[in-house]
Amino acid sequence: MPRDLMRRPPLRVSALPPNQVSMYPGEPRMVLCPGCQRWLKPHDGGLRRHMVAADGRDMCAESGRRVWFDLTAAEWLISLDVAAREAGQRRGSRIRRKASPPVAPPVFRLAGAR
Ligand SMILES: [Zn+2]
Repeated sequence: MPRDLMRRPPLRVSALPPNQVSMYPGEPRMVLCPGCQRWLKPHDGGLRRHMVAADGRDMCAESGRRVWFDLTAAEWLISLDVAAREAGQRRGSRIRRKASPPVAPPVFRLAGAR
């Protein structure tokens, strides 16, 4: 596994908010890049070189950052569920007059669905 040439601490999935990670069983594991807020599939244990914008020329500062998937998919799903419940409780006192619109799945999930 290549090292992070800039010697930054690795992104630990257990330390990221669960909604910035995707570890659904049967799908590639993804993380939301903290530098450019895009979903990336780590390769060889880290984020590949990538640009801040898809058509940009500026390299994302998080290129080459190591990513440690230090949770199992099951542990991640549990933490995602707990976070969703907590968010639901925070919104509990608000009066809602109509149903919430469905939340769109991340773009990378749409691309895989046929
Ligand atoms: Zn990035």
